[in-house]
Amino acid sequence: MAAFDNPAFDDHERVVFCRDAATGLKAIIAIHSTALGPAAGGCRLWSYASDDAALTDVLRLSQGMSYKNAMAGLELGGGKAVIIKTPEFSGSEALYEAFGTFVDKLGGDYVTAEDVGMSVEIMEIISRRTRYVTGLPQRAGHAGGDPSPKTSWGIFHGIQAAVQFKLARDSMDGLTVAVQGVGNVGYHLCRFLHEAGAGLVVADIDEARVARAVDEFGASSAALDEILFQDVDVVSPCALGAVFDEHAIPRVRAGIIAGGANNQLATAADGQRLRDAGILYAPDYVINGGGIINVASEYFDDTDDDGVMDRVASIGPRLLGIFEEAASSGRPTNEVADAQAKRIIAKASSA
Ligand code: NAD
Repeated sequence: MAAFDNPAFDDHERVVFCRDAATGLKAIIAIHSTALGPAAGGCRLWSYASDDAALTDVLRLSQGMSYKNAMAGLELGGGKAVIIKTPEFSGSEALYEAFGTFVDKLGGDYVTAEDVGMSVEIMEIISRRTRYVTGLPQRAGHAGGDPSPKTSWGIFHGIQAAVQFKLARDSMDGLTVAVQGVGNVGYHLCRFLHEAGAGLVVADIDEARVARAVDEFGASSAALDEILFQDVDVVSPCALGAVFDEHAIPRVRAGIIAGGANNQLATAADGQRLRDAGILYAPDYVINGGGIINVASEYFDDTDDDGVMDRVASIGPRLLGIFEEAASSGRPTNEVADAQAKRIIAKASSA
């Protein structure tokens, strides 16, 4: 299928098909928009059912990065890359170097980073051929490193904004939050919530991670298939996507959904379902933008870790703006977030 005919094609500026026969590299780089700045987004290493499936994924993900970067207030456009894991995939250093050369040839219009299947070590290999790469080991006194605590800090501020808006409360003290998944993001989120006086209910398929949250934060644990339906103030999905659909939404008892997982809604229509159910939903790509703010600060090298934390805290006011517009216009928050992102990008395009 031609890229122009793909349903996920959204007037992308450039789609580059990269092939290096010597190393077996097969990759696609999609630049959705550079209106706000270099198109930034991670590179995913994945085994796809077909090349069309890889194209659809990279087109969809790069558009998502445009929206995410715009809503994070960054001077970055949206892009994404996929390296296709073919049956004969070698994973050699030469292959990643070849990918780095392709990124470099784009002259800074695309900045790559880590995504599923990649690692800091691979980013270092890519950096032999291009400087348009982030996710490298953190240098002392500079921004960078593990984005997860920054992501959690943004979610914490997002939860506070939702609590302020929905419950008219300025403190987390005495409220209870159910956290699905206490891995990198969920664990640090629990720490911030516990320090702010919130009670916690957690679930994770990894029992050791549940035990850690119980020990360190006095959390109680819930069954895996019940965590989203607890009688709590806030539900915070921090594990997998597509957890809210027409079957799950009627069972949610919390008034607020605010968590770090990507693509929490099974379909865009589930945003309307949540609204109809009286549940305030913090759009996932806005509330979990702390990680990309960390990456941007590493790339531009313009602040340190404390500065990143300050920038990430702005996710709270940004979400309040979405909640207010959603309430005054009668639209679901996910639609309002998309509309705000499009406005920011359109304004930059016409400037
Ligand atoms: P992680 O792998 O460290 O943690 C995920 C946790 O969820 C793991 O402990 C895993 O055991 C658990 N889990 C998996 N399936 C589960 C299930 N069915 N029920 C309960 N627990 C389950 O990943 P992470 O880095 O913490 O990321 C969590 C989510 O946040 C992902 O959706 C990720 O895409 C998103 N996200 C992460 C970041 C970041 O900075 N790490 C940034 C933006 C978005």
